[in-house]
Amino acid sequence: MVRSATLKGMGILDFIFPKYCVNCKKLGSYLCANCLTFISFDTEEICVVCNRPAINGLTHPGCLGKHTINGVFSAIAYKGAAKKLIYNFKYKPYLADLKNVLVDLFYENLIQKEEFYSVCKNNKSLIFLVPIPLHSSKLRSRGYNQAEILAAALSKKLGFPTANLLKRLKKTPSLAGLTQKIRKANIKGAFEVEKDKKEILKNAIIFLVDDIFTTGATLNEAAKMLKKSGAKKVYGLALARD
Ligand SMILES: [Zn+2]
Ligand SMILES: [Zn+2]
Repeated sequence: MVRSATLKGMGILDFIFPKYCVNCKKLGSYLCANCLTFISFDTEEICVVCNRPAINGLTHPGCLGKHTINGVFSAIAYKGAAKKLIYNFKYKPYLADLKNVLVDLFYENLIQKEEFYSVCKNNKSLIFLVPIPLHSSKLRSRGYNQAEILAAALSKKLGFPTANLLKRLKKTPSLAGLTQKIRKANIKGAFEVEKDKKEILKNAIIFLVDDIFTTGATLNEAAKMLKKSGAKKVYGLALARD
């Protein structure tokens, strides 16, 4: 999973652009074997409607409305080395290499989740991966959407197609540090389903892909729009849980 630190495993580019562990600065890879062992896979699954603990990340039956998200599966805890990896993935170069490390962590943990596995197994032909879109102005300034990159890489591993079904209408400020109630209000009306793509959604099972989730307000708002347009079930897949 993690690139070997030995000379044998290094290519010419490793000499021109040497890789350092994002956590301890050891030469050889973006995440050394030692720091990898400190990444926590204990993500404390929650129901994103009431934000209380939920078995396997599924929305509580009593919280599940007609247009509510069915559950959120997350791979790693957003702290320590994982936090540094994701931070660098967002704002720094070397995107392609960090992507491989992060996607491996994402995929390896998802497939070990029983509920996720059973959704995949039972709905193969109906599943689409949909990245949470950025607002066009943010996409222009950053140059890429990290959720789209993660969705494309997961698509290759899981064998489900990606579909850009959502459009971001509202430029929302960072939701960090806000309460769940304010987050919900800020994100309301932020998405719409692309008009020419509604046909795909009939009876579809959607995996919404994002990098980090905290209360799930964004995922739930996006799920609401997809379900209103005909999606049968919507689950969130988040690389990290904050
Ligand atoms: Zn390290
Ligand atoms: Zn609940």
